[in-house]
Amino acid sequence: MINVAIDGHAGSGKSVLAKGIAERLKFRVLNTGALYRGMACAYRESGYKGVDNDKINEFIKDIKISVEFINDEQHVFVNGKDYTPHLREEEISVLSSEISPYQQLRNKVVDLQRDFAKNNNCVMEGRDIATNVLPDAQIKIFLTASAEKRAMRRYLEMKDKDNVTFEQILKDIKERDYRDEHRAVAPLVPAKDSVILDNGDLTVEGTIDKAIEIINKKLGRV
Ligand code: C5P
Repeated sequence: MINVAIDGHAGSGKSVLAKGIAERLKFRVLNTGALYRGMACAYRESGYKGVDNDKINEFIKDIKISVEFINDEQHVFVNGKDYTPHLREEEISVLSSEISPYQQLRNKVVDLQRDFAKNNNCVMEGRDIATNVLPDAQIKIFLTASAEKRAMRRYLEMKDKDNVTFEQILKDIKERDYRDEHRAVAPLVPAKDSVILDNGDLTVEGTIDKAIEIINKKLGRV
């Protein structure tokens, strides 16, 4: 199977890029942030206040996570419940980054990811795909852009649905960057063999073109 690993900062456009690549190459996409977001939805629904090791241990005891593609859209199920409509809520953005540093929770999510990669030509996007989940992926791309540009994109995406300000989103993004980069377990860093792609000044199509160029080169197609 051919696996394309895309890692990068929150709001850098990994999901859109992964979808674009997958459409052109006819691969499957797995959005792994959505898996942590699904876990966060289930965690919130279980009524936990705050996050700590004991609470996470108790939470994951009987947790089963799975994905299904319905009309080509990835749906995330935790213990049989489809949390997809809630995944993009701002509260879930924050909570997912708070629960994701816990290794015992990550193990459940990573098992699902490796299984998926074994069975599909796929583009997988997240934070630790190249460094940890799929270290043997043939193509590794690290996507980034400045925090301000990323916050503006997320603001434009959310402002009609959620009562949020640009300043709040920028603050959340910087805090999430810090947590993602500094956590002890699976921190966000480019793998040694990742190609860094800064899309701050690129359009969506321009970013996809660049990524396809990188992929073709790695696969010896040019
Ligand atoms: O990419 P997205 O913003 O949807 O991810 C939600 C959260 O899940 C991130 O803030 C990050 O902390 C966590 N995550 C992770 N590892 C991944 C993907 C996401 O820790 N592979």
